[in-house]
Amino acid sequence: MADTARILVIEDESPIRKFLRISLESNGFAMLEAETAEQGLRMASAEPPDAVVLDLGLPDSDGLDVMRRLREWTSVPIIVLSARGREADKIAALDGGADDYLTKPFGVGELLARLRVALRHASRGSRPEEPTFQVGGLRVDLAARRAFIDEGEVHLTPTEYRLLTTLIRHVGKVVTHRQLLKEVWGPDSVEENQYLRVYLGQLRRKIERDAARPRYLLTEPGVGYRLVDE
Ligand code: CA
Repeated sequence: MADTARILVIEDESPIRKFLRISLESNGFAMLEAETAEQGLRMASAEPPDAVVLDLGLPDSDGLDVMRRLREWTSVPIIVLSARGREADKIAALDGGADDYLTKPFGVGELLARLRVALRHASRGSRPEEPTFQVGGLRVDLAARRAFIDEGEVHLTPTEYRLLTTLIRHVGKVVTHRQLLKEVWGPDSVEENQYLRVYLGQLRRKIERDAARPRYLLTEPGVGYRLVDE
């Protein structure tokens, strides 16, 4: 990730753009800004940015449409901004190809963490994946298909293992219920939320020290789950 990654912010509220400019520039990013969907799309194609921060509530068009238009030609990381309580919008955005979301109001730390993850994923690109995944005391040897917690081996069922490796593929990012169900159980099971609850609970009991206060497998209320990456 380059020190001067260029972030295109598409957001109609000027106080939020100001806040983002101060936060991004003081942390070594360059910021481009657009106030409307039309302007944002134009800027994204004229000078392709390293990441896009996209507000879902724009005056001239729905942010979800902007995302669909961008996804027709670019895989640039997109982080959507949405209002609290608009879970359906967040889910639609993530299922439609957004990399992550921030709920307004959000803090600088949260924004920078999401951007770092998105840029890291983008720069990893098509390079081969690491054969071992590790975060804190959790280690998964992907080549040998074995998982360890604090160096003790954890025995996972094939479904638990598939659920864990799916989250590892998206590490640091929120994965929607639908996306997880599709990747772990297949496209016919995208409505089977109870599968996910049951298996996620089992997996937590095996890898978390305290399943009620998870350290690794976090719940994103109403949206999905996130495996932490640091
Ligand atoms: Ca707005």
